[in-house]
Amino acid sequence: MAEVKEIPKSDWAVHRYLYTRDISNAPVINLLLKQVDVIYQPRNEREVLEVLRIAKEEGATVVPRGAGTSGYGGVLPVKDIALLRLSRRKTIMIDFTRMDDFEIDEEKRLIECSPGAVWWEVEKKLNKKGLTLRVYPTSAPSSTVAGWIAQNGYGVGSLKYGGIAENVEKLRVADFSGVKEVEGKDLKYYIGMEGITGVITKAWVKVKEMEEMKYYGFHVSAKEANKIVFAGDHYAGLFLDSNYVKLKNEAFGTELPEKDTLMVATTEKLDGDESLGEEIWETRFYPMRVRRLGPGLVAAENVLPAESIPAYLNKLNKMIKKPHGSEIWYSKGRKGAVLSFIPSDERKFFSYAFTWFNSIRALKLAKSMRGVPYSTGFYLSSEAKLLFGGDYSELREYKRNVDPKGQLNPGKVFPVGVFPLAMGILQKVIP
Ligand SMILES: Cc1cc2nc3c(=O)[nH]c(=O)nc-3n(C[C@H](O)[C@H](O)[C@H](O)COP(=O)(O)OP(=O)(O)OC[C@H]3O[C@@H](n4cnc5c(N)ncnc54)[C@H](O)[C@@H]3O)c2cc1C
Repeated sequence: MAEVKEIPKSDWAVHRYLYTRDISNAPVINLLLKQVDVIYQPRNEREVLEVLRIAKEEGATVVPRGAGTSGYGGVLPVKDIALLRLSRRKTIMIDFTRMDDFEIDEEKRLIECSPGAVWWEVEKKLNKKGLTLRVYPTSAPSSTVAGWIAQNGYGVGSLKYGGIAENVEKLRVADFSGVKEVEGKDLKYYIGMEGITGVITKAWVKVKEMEEMKYYGFHVSAKEANKIVFAGDHYAGLFLDSNYVKLKNEAFGTELPEKDTLMVATTEKLDGDESLGEEIWETRFYPMRVRRLGPGLVAAENVLPAESIPAYLNKLNKMIKKPHGSEIWYSKGRKGAVLSFIPSDERKFFSYAFTWFNSIRALKLAKSMRGVPYSTGFYLSSEAKLLFGGDYSELREYKRNVDPKGQLNPGKVFPVGVFPLAMGILQKVIP
């Protein structure tokens, strides 16, 4: 076992507080969270296995954490009582940020990454070899490889290459019975499962050769955007509705025309505005900078068929009374991840809490238009059945087999305890 450095007592309270937080700040929900008992930062797989061995022996729960950017509460330690358990279990947080090395296999066009490798660090090294990631999240400057895989989702490049799930070749995972390598159809037991079936200790991800890319901007409606985005073999497509452009101008100090705007990144020649396209491309990493306008932010994120998006935006804009805006990253399979932001002052408890109801309204609206929530995590475990569809029962059964005592990231992905019940009720009562 590696040397254990104890956090000085004076710093412990701060660390424990920070490790009960992620990028989100959901009011009331904080009451369901507990402080962690141990924070462990392993440096290799052997140490991860040692932590799992101790957790098994002690009956402790294990919460894996990358950079904490997911915003669905997946990294938050949940109180046992909130999970309807009467006995208190210790919670060990495994912070993977020290396991951040990676290797590039130029011939196979693969990267072999430790879980805490940061996407943009990987990209910078790949670029030196004339290679590039096929997909990455817009949180790439800080988020980790295993964090995004465990969370699952779409990002830059998904228009051409699909979500991260379609770009993982193989995973190495650890659970209470040891380590295994999974690939092919078995990857579904780990991608998007947020560590509830085992922790990722290594990931092999597909990369590609760099190509000369052009960025085009268009002032078009969401309906027109669908036609442009899905017409060719484009790399990435991002739509900003006029409300979002307005917020962006305020937050960034830019002077973009406050109109519906589309950016397409492509190797093809298009009849669009290159300087507009480039300006939007350059700021792709900072979608949440509008948070400073709150100060604070309430977000809603749903995936919809491209055909439903124009009507969804229309209805959403009528429904949300506060200043807000939406951006859409398009993906292969004619769909788009619609991310809507409502700046809201998080220091004002009641108005901030009520603003969160808009996320629930947006979810209900998306569901009525063949949409699904972006992810489950802790906040939306009530939606797991909808999100996993026909795989739901099989995935639950797998979870029960590898983790019969529910020690791996409890309260995440599948509905357990009081919170998913409350979410179900809220969806019924909120108009
Ligand atoms: C500015 C911003 C932009 C974003 N852009 C995108 C985007 O374009 N596309 C997108 O899909 N998401 C996006 N997100 C959401 C989020 O960044 C991604 O889901 C992200 O990649 C998560 O990585 P992370 O390292 O922060 O993971 P964390 O938030 O730390 O963890 C995510 C989940 O994975 C689990 N986990 C972490 N490490 C492991 C491991 N080794 N083994 C098993 N489970 C593990 C955690 O328990 C948690 O449930 C964005 C977020 C922000 C703040």
